Amino acid sequence: MRPSDRIAGINGGGSDGWEVLYQARDLRRAGDQVLDLTIGDHDWTTPDVLIDAMTASARKGQTGYAPITGYDALRSAIAERVVKRTGVPTGLQNVIVIQGGQAGLFASMMATLDPGDRALVMDPYYATYPGTIRAASGIPEIVPTRAEAGFQPQAADLAAAAPAKSILINSPNNPSGSCYTPETMATLARFAIERDMWVISDEVYEGQVWNGTHLTARAIPGLRDRTLVIGSLSKSHVMTGWRLGWIVGPPDMISAFCDLATNTTYGVPGFIQDAALTALTEDHGIEDETAAKYRTRRRATFDVLAGQNSVQAAASDGGMYVMLDIRSTGLSGQSFAQALLAKHRVAVMPGESFGTACAGHVRVALTRPANELTQAITTISKFAEETR
Ligand code: PLP
Repeated sequence: MRPSDRIAGINGGGSDGWEVLYQARDLRRAGDQVLDLTIGDHDWTTPDVLIDAMTASARKGQTGYAPITGYDALRSAIAERVVKRTGVPTGLQNVIVIQGGQAGLFASMMATLDPGDRALVMDPYYATYPGTIRAASGIPEIVPTRAEAGFQPQAADLAAAAPAKSILINSPNNPSGSCYTPETMATLARFAIERDMWVISDEVYEGQVWNGTHLTARAIPGLRDRTLVIGSLSKSHVMTGWRLGWIVGPPDMISAFCDLATNTTYGVPGFIQDAALTALTEDHGIEDETAAKYRTRRRATFDVLAGQNSVQAAASDGGMYVMLDIRSTGLSGQSFAQALLAKHRVAVMPGESFGTACAGHVRVALTRPANELTQAITTISKFAEETR
């Protein structure tokens, strides 16, 4: 017996890009001290007020099946957040609550692609994107961006892309940290409209913008009815493990997502939704404090970078990562990250884990306190200097 070609093909026959993380974990298990700056998870836990809200909800009896699209109160709170932040008219009929941004990405691919359809993905991309498209029986088509253009998509690269059903964009971008400018968004909009494509806009880092402002795809003229926006509490409210996200889109697509959820997850647990409602409707300062922490860490990282010239920060205008250009060493991001781990026990992600646009780069997750990041960047800089 063997699994289906679809599921066996999810990783595309190659690596999943997380080797350095696995090696770091092996070293740790063997008793070594490793500074792990690979994965995008917070180094502190969900605030008690949200844990209390979840517990109170479960004790109150919210332990049965919950409405599959989400409680109306939570859908309305999400819609209100969207209106407040973007000005785009949005009601609860535009929202489905779903198990995190990743489930939102998968549902969006399922709802927009038929088997064998192509889906464009801007490179660099969050590591799961191609697999998510393949899991929905689509074919990922990678569209390059360039470090020299701040990883902003360019009209010429889009024009050269294969015909496709959808385009997946992500701003603020993981891994590069680039925030798409109004000009970039206008270029993407013209392209999507001209080719009559769906736009899947992953905006899970919308609240972590350090330079410029976040521009949601739904606010660009002509895009609202062809756009699905993915949101999540994972990064904004320190809730990665809770699996709470949403999709915002046209009401008929929300019905389609409901059909998919009815036959897959059967909705998000009510007590998790109630905690999410607390997160979105009561001001406990969680989102601001989380963003402030990453802003401080990023600043500390840039302070060290300013005093050296062996590595350069790329883009890094949003999100909880700093992307470093290490091309002056002559090494690939992969070789650099592996040698750095072997020699200095600092684990970072090779840029190549996120496509080819970030080759010769490494991504540093700002997921340790500023003093440790300062140390790590100093080590990375010295290592790059010695290597070149
Ligand atoms: N999209 C991007 C760009 C991410 O970086 C991540 C997680 O790192 C996700 C989606 C998935 O987030 P969630 O925890 O909401 O599934």
